[in-house]
Amino acid sequence: MSVESLYRDVVMRHFKKPSHHGPVSESESLASAENPTCGDHMRLTLTVEEGRITDIRFEGKGCAISMASCSLMTEAVLGKDVGEVRELIDAFEGMLKGDAEVEGVDLGDLAALQGVKRYPLRIKCALLGWEALRGALEKTST
Ligand code: ZN
Repeated sequence: MSVESLYRDVVMRHFKKPSHHGPVSESESLASAENPTCGDHMRLTLTVEEGRITDIRFEGKGCAISMASCSLMTEAVLGKDVGEVRELIDAFEGMLKGDAEVEGVDLGDLAALQGVKRYPLRIKCALLGWEALRGALEKTST
């Protein structure tokens, strides 16, 4: 399977049936992010217990890339400790912006999104859920 079709397959699968997607309620971790150029918006909440993300949920509407990226992100970070999650955020941003070392961090299915870096306008879409994740982490881990 080519990288291109792998990318399309993963994106469409997560766009049609996003993981951990549903209405989120007001909570202290609630963070949101928007991408006006595309009309994407995300709201995200999470629970951190003993330094680990034990629950994560997002609601939002967006293009296939923003939804798929956020869905993949929730799968990747659930159960991880906050330090690991921060490394993953940096690695993922680095992969898309192409200006950071991503070696040593296993991106798993997230690697399917590296094709997005060829479409500069879409990078913001792919990072939207991650921006909300950063915001939520900031509110929960002091
Ligand atoms: Zn978008």
